[in-house]
Amino acid sequence: MTKRVAIIGAGPSGLAQLRAFQSAAQKGAEIPEIVCFEKQSNWGGLWNYTWRTGVDENGEPVHCSMYRYLWTNGPKEGLEFADYSFEEHFGKQIASYPPRAVMVDYIEGRVLKAGVRDWIRFNSVIRWVEYDQAADDFTVTVHDMETDHVYKERFDHVICASGHFSSPNVPEYPGFEQFNGRIVHAHDFRDAREFAGKDVLLVGSSYSAEDIGSQCWKYGAKTVTTSYRSAPMGFKWPANWEEKPALEKVEGKTAFFADGSTKDIDAIILCTGYKHYFPFLPDELRLKTKNRLATADLYKGVVYVHNPKMFYLGMQDQWFTFNMFDAQAWYVRDIILGRIEVPADKQLLMADVSEREAREEASDEVKYAIKYQGAYVKELIADTDYPSFDVDGACEAFFEWKHHKAEDIMAFRNHSYKSVITGTMAPTHHTPWKDALDDSMEAYLQN
Ligand code: FAD
Ligand code: NAP
Ligand code: MG
Repeated sequence: MTKRVAIIGAGPSGLAQLRAFQSAAQKGAEIPEIVCFEKQSNWGGLWNYTWRTGVDENGEPVHCSMYRYLWTNGPKEGLEFADYSFEEHFGKQIASYPPRAVMVDYIEGRVLKAGVRDWIRFNSVIRWVEYDQAADDFTVTVHDMETDHVYKERFDHVICASGHFSSPNVPEYPGFEQFNGRIVHAHDFRDAREFAGKDVLLVGSSYSAEDIGSQCWKYGAKTVTTSYRSAPMGFKWPANWEEKPALEKVEGKTAFFADGSTKDIDAIILCTGYKHYFPFLPDELRLKTKNRLATADLYKGVVYVHNPKMFYLGMQDQWFTFNMFDAQAWYVRDIILGRIEVPADKQLLMADVSEREAREEASDEVKYAIKYQGAYVKELIADTDYPSFDVDGACEAFFEWKHHKAEDIMAFRNHSYKSVITGTMAPTHHTPWKDALDDSMEAYLQN
């Protein structure tokens, strides 16, 4: 009997998995039956924008954490698909920090070409997954929202690609209940224009704080204040942007910080990160990990050590994204196709995880972390037929990006980098990021 494989989620990771199997089939391999379940009505994962917050049209938690005017926060040269370049998709090389709509078009281009849309059941929420020891298979419970029908199906493998930047981590501070203004988590932030003319406080000091603060600044906030718990971001901020240490409390409209300073504010945006959240998985299958490069309990970063028939994609903290998901998807495919063997001894799987953890912990330098994840991508693609590419070159693009951010945080997106797939230099964008208010694909692709 043909094996059956369930994929949970049709974001960049799940789509990488579909493309990986399709590419093997194209080369003549016999592949299992693949069913991808996606709770949204379309593919793209986080990149599939919705104005909705809270619950979606089916009453399910909204997956999207993206917002209007979002441009990529790292150069596209760091994430380009090795089997589908930006030039192949757009018919020309494009600038290095595309807005979301351009990225969606690119993500979609590869899977449309592969013809895998029929493998996906949309509006299908995974409710539960169970492993049956005797039958050595999984029973997956699905809620089909179109017909409002709940059903079960059996699979030999489950690949969880449901993302981990969707379920918000929402801390509470004293005084929030009485605050005279809006308090929103980054997950529910949608349009920076809402904060034009306002004094905005962002809690957090990572990418969401940096980028949402930059959006607010670009679209006319009166002042931006960011508050850090561990370390400041330390960029050279514009005159109306101030970095403060930890928030302690708010009283009325006044925020109090750990250094004794205060600031009157109109709104608070919690850029406090996300949780790995899998409400559809029982204890024995559920990944419990921090947002880090060496995830807990995943051999080679993808095989669940407590049940090696279950896989996870994209659960790492991310410097590399699409190309890393590809490397993982091709690797998982080859395990399922019997081309790569997973050691039967659980101790060996655990030892692999510990070794990755120790290596990650050896340094907390950013450059080290980028190289570390680059080495991981290289390690996986060496074992499959995923087209090898200049991973060190992609690391170089990240190093340059870091340097450009330190130079001018409001201008780093005006730089361009060389593709490691085609070798072509990206053109300089026609408009500096701070002046480009239209984030449509048409506007971005204009010459
Ligand atoms: P996701 O994109 O989260 O997709 C997971 C999919 O699983 C979704 O479609 C979801 O609907 C589905 N799903 C979840 N639960 C279920 C269920 N129970 N049943 C069925 N389906 C389910 N990366 C970059 O490279 N560049 C960027 O500029 C960038 N910007 C980002 C901006 C923001 C605000 C955030 C939050 C992340 C950003 N990322 C960026 C990182 C992002 O994680 C990846 O680009 C990518 O989207 C991860 O893909 P994924 O498929 O692993 O997860
Ligand atoms: P993150 O990187 O996990 O950072 C979470 C931040 O919240 C950290 O600064 C953390 O501080 C802080 N924090 C957590 N709990 C806190 C608490 N109780 N009180 C105060 N601070 C707290 O999450 P993120 O910034 O949301 O980024 C998530 C992903 O989205 C990243 O992959 C990022 O690249 C992506 N992203 C991309 C874009 C873009 O492309 N334009 C924009 C936004 C986000 P500590 O350091 O002290 O733990
Ligand atoms: Mg290879």
